[in-house]
Order: sequence, then structure tokens, then C-alpha cells
Amino acid sequence: DFILVTGASGFIASHTAKQLLQQGYRVRGTVRSEAKGEYLKKIFQGLGEFEYAIVEDITTDGVFDEAVKGVDGVAHLASPFYTEGVKDPQELIGPATKGTTGILKSIQKNNPSVKRVVITSSVAAVMSTDSRKSPVVYTEDDWNQDSIPHVEEKGLESAGGHAYQASKTLAEKALWKFIEDEKPSWDAAAINPPLVLGEVIHQVDDPEKLNTSVAYIWKWSTGQKSESDLPGPMGSWVDVKDVANAHIRALEVPEAAGNRFLTSAGNLTGQGIVDVVHSKFPEIKNVPVGKPGTHDEVAKNLSKFNSEKSTKVLGIKYKSFEDSATETIQGLRARFGKP
Ligand code: NDP
Repeated sequence: DFILVTGASGFIASHTAKQLLQQGYRVRGTVRSEAKGEYLKKIFQGLGEFEYAIVEDITTDGVFDEAVKGVDGVAHLASPFYTEGVKDPQELIGPATKGTTGILKSIQKNNPSVKRVVITSSVAAVMSTDSRKSPVVYTEDDWNQDSIPHVEEKGLESAGGHAYQASKTLAEKALWKFIEDEKPSWDAAAINPPLVLGEVIHQVDDPEKLNTSVAYIWKWSTGQKSESDLPGPMGSWVDVKDVANAHIRALEVPEAAGNRFLTSAGNLTGQGIVDVVHSKFPEIKNVPVGKPGTHDEVAKNLSKFNSEKSTKVLGIKYKSFEDSATETIQGLRARFGKP
């Protein structure tokens, strides 16, 4: 089969494209520039049939019209993910929602043979951090109740976290509404990951330009955190290769149709990260110590995302935090040098 992966130059999408190729799929990736497309061609050399299509801005009407032609399935991952320096929530909401409806419309218009569309949503579309007191065990039945009203009420003042969370909530809602209204011949699934860690294979030549989730780990392992940042309860995490695999399984498994899937491997704390740094990379200095071995105790007060459905329906087995964090840090040090 032939799969379109949008935003293929991104952290998660590059792994998704790579695993698809390794499993024998033909892949077309959308990227914003020729340079990013050529970079992917280089790293995917010998893995299978990869081609790229330029999609500069997912908010442009009809921008996916050509890219969707001829494919059997679509994994839509392109969407802005940053929470710092947001001046207007629409910076995030516009591309998230227009990108989603845009690709769905292009499929409807130009490719009746698509069988399944998988979009990358997020736990941001599931959790309600203001109105529900931690610890909550979230399931796929939950929807973020807080971020859309927050953004509507606060407008331009509402930068950052809620703007991103609203963008993901609105984008996923747009997917399910499109299916309800248009009743397309194809079906869809959504993947809802928490913070994604793991090996970086996409083009990044400067740690300042790392994607948001890996940038967190970089900070914790390069002396940019202090004892006062610990125990650092954060949320939940998952390895990028497991999330990529979840996208592929969601394209393949018939029962995935019409479903959203939480894909969390467990809770994330600063203490958990520094414990791995100290045990696996003792040569890294300036990393706070906190109270080693107390991750579980800190995590007790964090909300959880029940990911049983992803295991049962998609067959995802989650990598351990120690392995994922080690792989992330090792890869970053090889790429950017050893601070
Ligand atoms: P990246 O920033 O690495 O990937 C985002 C991709 O989207 C990039 O290829 C980017 O292109 C592209 N993109 C963004 N805005 C536009 C636009 N206006 N027009 C065209 N392309 C655009 O982040 P991730 O890989 O982490 O994110 C991928 C998806 O996963 C997103 O939908 C994100 O919301 C979701 N997600 C991520 C999580 C995480 O922790 N990483 C957790 C949960 C969900 P370019 O780089 O060229 O700008």
C-alpha cells in the first residue's frame, strides 16, 4: 500500500515514515521545503520507495489536493507544537484545524480510494487540567473541557498551554465532525499521545531548534535545571517509536476505525529523568540529584491516561522509561556534542 504522511520532516512523522518503509509500504511525505525533503530521502535511502511533496503551509486552501492523489491511507501529523512565545492562539488553532479539515476535503475531492485516515491528536484533547483535580485516570471517553472556553474568554491574553491544547481539541473535534457530516467512504482513527520522547532522526542542527517535547529532556540533561526544579512532576510520556507504530497499526487494524487511542507509557517526573542521567551518564555534571528512587512516589499525585485500548486493539507494547530516556540522551549527545 501507498501511505501519505504529512509533516514528514517532524519528530514523530519522520519515525512514522521510516517504520512504514521498513514494513514495505510506499511512502509520500509532505514537507515545507525541498531541503527537508532531500534530507529525508537521504536518511531513508535503501529502506524502500520514498518520495516527497512540498506543502509549505497547511492553512492554504486545497494545499493537499495533489499530495493525496494515488495513496491508500493517510497519516496526518503536521501541526504546530510550541507553547512558548505564542502571541495569538490562532497561530496554533488555525493550522491545527485548517490542516485537518484541509486534508480531509482534499481526500474527498481527489481520492475516493483512500481507506483510512489517522490523525495525531494528543492527550491535550483529553485532559481538563483546570476543572478536574489530579489525580484523574483519563480514558478515551474524556474530552478537554477547559481549553476552548479559556481561549474564547481570554483571547489574545490566552497564550501558551491552553492555546496549544485548544488547537488539538478543536482539530480532533473537526475530524469527527467531518466524518459525521460528510459520511465519507473511508474511516478514521486518532492517536492521543502524551509527551513524546526518543531518538531524533529528523533534521535539527541546533538544540535551540529541537521539537518541543525532546527539548524538555535536553534541558534536564544539560545542566539547565537545578535542585529547586525537583521533584518536577510533569505528566505522562511515551517513546516516539511506539507512537509511530501506533499510527501504523491504526492504519491497518480494522477495529481501529472510529476510535481514538491514548498512548501513554507512564508518568513523567524530573526525578525520573535525573535518575536515568545519573545512572546511565555519570559523566554528565551539573544535573540535580533530588531524592533518587522516588519517582513512583511523586507520580502518585499525577493524572494518568489509561492506554489499555491501544494495547488491546493496536497491540502496542510500551518501551521502558529507562530505555527511552537513555536512547534520547545518547542520540542528542551524539548529534550536538557532549555538554
Ligand atoms: P514537530 O514540530 O517535530 O512536527 C510538526 C510538523 O508539522 C513539522 O514537520 C512542521 O514542519 C509541520 N508544520 C507545522 N506547522 C505547519 C504549517 N503551518 N504548514 C506546514 N507544516 C507545518 O513536532 P512533533 O513531531 O512532536 O508533532 C507531530 C504531531 O504530534 C503534531 O500534530 C503534534 O501536535 C502531535 N503531538 C506531539 C506530541 C509530542 O510530545 N511531541 C504529543 C502529542 C501530540 P516544519 O518543521 O518544517 O515547520
